[in-house]
Amino acid sequence: MASVKLKNIYKRYPGGVTAVNDFNLDIEDKEFIILVGPSGCGKTTTLRMIAGLEEITEGELYIGDKLVNDVAPKDRDIAMVFQNYALYPHMTVYDNMAFGLKLRKMPKDEIKRRVLEAAKILDIEHLLERKPKALSGGQRQRVALGRAIVREPKVFLMDEPLSNLDAKLRVQMRTEISKLHNKLQTTIIYVTHDQTEALTMGTRIVVMKDGFIQQVDTPANLYERPQNMFVAGFIGSPQMNFVDVKVEKVTDEKGGEGVALRFGKNSIKLPEGKAKRLLASEYIGKEVVMGIRPENLHDEAVYLESMSDSVVTARVEVVEMLGSETLLYVLVDDVDFIARVNPRTKAKVGDIIKIAFDANKVHLFDKETEKTIM
Ligand code: ATP
Repeated sequence: MASVKLKNIYKRYPGGVTAVNDFNLDIEDKEFIILVGPSGCGKTTTLRMIAGLEEITEGELYIGDKLVNDVAPKDRDIAMVFQNYALYPHMTVYDNMAFGLKLRKMPKDEIKRRVLEAAKILDIEHLLERKPKALSGGQRQRVALGRAIVREPKVFLMDEPLSNLDAKLRVQMRTEISKLHNKLQTTIIYVTHDQTEALTMGTRIVVMKDGFIQQVDTPANLYERPQNMFVAGFIGSPQMNFVDVKVEKVTDEKGGEGVALRFGKNSIKLPEGKAKRLLASEYIGKEVVMGIRPENLHDEAVYLESMSDSVVTARVEVVEMLGSETLLYVLVDDVDFIARVNPRTKAKVGDIIKIAFDANKVHLFDKETEKTIM
């Protein structure tokens, strides 16, 4: 069993930095979990504590059922793949992969079995006699993974293992590591600052900020149901649009009560369900932060018609054609928004256009706490 459990874990560095704060997480056996967050949020420190390379200031760390706070790194049955994977330049790929096992005095035929098996999994069997300088970046990265795989650990720890690769290779290796996880059937804990990498690879993602866990969830839930403004802004690219709005009670044509969000001259009428929840809340008449993702802003006639209660006037500042989609950078009053629209859009820089907000997809956040209201 290779579950990993972190219970009330703290890391305080000498000098007063609390890098990790009350970290609680149950990682299941064979899970592929990702720690993601901006630079300095404590991802690497957390990983190094799991590896045993960093002392735990407070709290309990279990691998399987065993408390391992005081167990030496080599006895934890884990393997770590770093960002800077230094291969030994004078050794062949085979010897690079075998090196750690030789040090452990493993019998030669067992070493051979493991290296050949790892090479097969990684599709580098034909490279075993080469030296690292005769390999491409991606092949070298695979050898670095191979060195970890041959140890047949219960848990893999990976710290930004793709950050030294170019963009194209990184995308390719993402898929390979996901496939590798399926083949190896082991627990992988993977650190990255790249939210796209996190969304595409992990089955569960831990979003961190300033040493605190912000949310632990599936990629879809992080995207659709962020628990606070930080997660909402961090996950998704281009990022969610935010604007301060006033929550106002309005009366519709039939005399029914509704809710509109106002900023400047603009008004976004909320659908009935959302309106009802707000009417029963303390937020009527107050300022909140509205968030809406770029793909929920539309410039096509069909949307302008069907969402006529939430149309605003915008000035196009920048048009970015990306092939399968186009990004419109627009100004609504003095607020910037990004809209992800159909590439057949006719909008040009300088145009004054109409933009429909999909009010069903609006997120609202408390201005003080930045927590999600709905
Ligand atoms: P990055 O993505 O930049 O690697 P990270 O999320 O992995 O960042 P950590 O490296 O875990 O962040 O660092 C968390 C915090 O702890 C930072 O504020 C960092 O400056 C601090 N820190 C890290 N190592 C030490 C150390 N040895 N002594 C003091 N402070 C440290």
